[in-house]
Amino acid sequence: MDDDIVRLKALSEQMTFEPAEDHSLIGTPYLDKPENCPEAVFVHPVILPNGQRIKLLKTLLTSACERDCYYCPFRAGRDFHRATFQPEEFARLFVMLFRKGIAQGVFLSSGITGGGIRTQDKLLDSADVLRHKLGFRGYIHLKIMPGAERAQVERAMQLADRVSINLEAPNDIRLSKLAPHKQFTAELLQPLKWVEEIRHTQPGYKGWNGHWPSSVTQFVAGGAGESDLELLSTTDYLYQQLGIRRAYFSPFSPILDTPLENQLPTPAIREHRLYQASFLLRDYGFDLEELTFELDGRLPEQIDPKLAWAQKNLSERPIEVNRAERFTLMRIPGIGPRGAEAIMKARRQAKIRDVTSLRKIGISAEQAAPYLLFDGRRTPYQPCLF
Ligand code: SF4
Repeated sequence: MDDDIVRLKALSEQMTFEPAEDHSLIGTPYLDKPENCPEAVFVHPVILPNGQRIKLLKTLLTSACERDCYYCPFRAGRDFHRATFQPEEFARLFVMLFRKGIAQGVFLSSGITGGGIRTQDKLLDSADVLRHKLGFRGYIHLKIMPGAERAQVERAMQLADRVSINLEAPNDIRLSKLAPHKQFTAELLQPLKWVEEIRHTQPGYKGWNGHWPSSVTQFVAGGAGESDLELLSTTDYLYQQLGIRRAYFSPFSPILDTPLENQLPTPAIREHRLYQASFLLRDYGFDLEELTFELDGRLPEQIDPKLAWAQKNLSERPIEVNRAERFTLMRIPGIGPRGAEAIMKARRQAKIRDVTSLRKIGISAEQAAPYLLFDGRRTPYQPCLF
């Protein structure tokens, strides 16, 4: 067993370089080890979309890969120690960790060996053994491999709680600068389309736990010289047309011994602004055309995209806090879905007359007040200039 744990440690450690997330991380990955075992594996404390807190094992089935994506630590030919598990071997090891309380869920990905279809079969076999031979009923996130077939995508959806395929770049031209042997439409976008198609054409049949799994994707932000506008255009399409739960923007970070090792890393502020803008598209009813971009398609770094919109559109036309509808309230800086609900609830009892009333229900009055009218009156607050 010690040898298995050593291999799993190597693979889970290497996955800490793979920035994909599928849930809210509530701490940094840490090493945990079974009793009486000298070795440990990396686990990630996370909150799942249903609010459950678990320790997630993020790992690869193999870190060997025949592809040569320019940004990836696992690319073919890169010199490091690689490790591999067979599906049943992995499933049994995971269940041992589960029973010992080391990990309660698994995010399983893989390098590609023998083509995307063969590799996908191995991921499916692992999940199948977990679910049907070993009776595991916990959280499974399965990666869909580039080039997987439709039937494999459907099988993954029958076994997992979440499926994902990383687009990496917003379009085929940008992808060619990151991963010249991946085909954007045929290998990456098509499986995401199948996921949505299956959800819609087979609404009667559900996944293993009564509903079809959610789907997510990831971009390597800043890796291919793409603009924020390109990333957000594709993200908007994924949210509106393909039912994606979340697009992740993993800031490009150069890896030694890869063709992009000398390229500058993407600053954290760019990742932050991309998430803010993508949430406006997904949750706040904003259209892409309403966001402010620089001439080169970048989001302004110095200002929150929602504040930029409010300064342009609401400074002269503030919103009446006692009458505005939910989505209108959510356009005010400092007011999110929960804040809008709180305002609507409070004003059913009595009119909101000043910033003190806003503060009482948990709204950041400093951010919101410059864009609001309180029964027809402005407050003394000046618009934020940062
Ligand atoms: S296919 Fe995946 S694991 Fe292989 S080099 Fe590309 S990104 Fe890395």
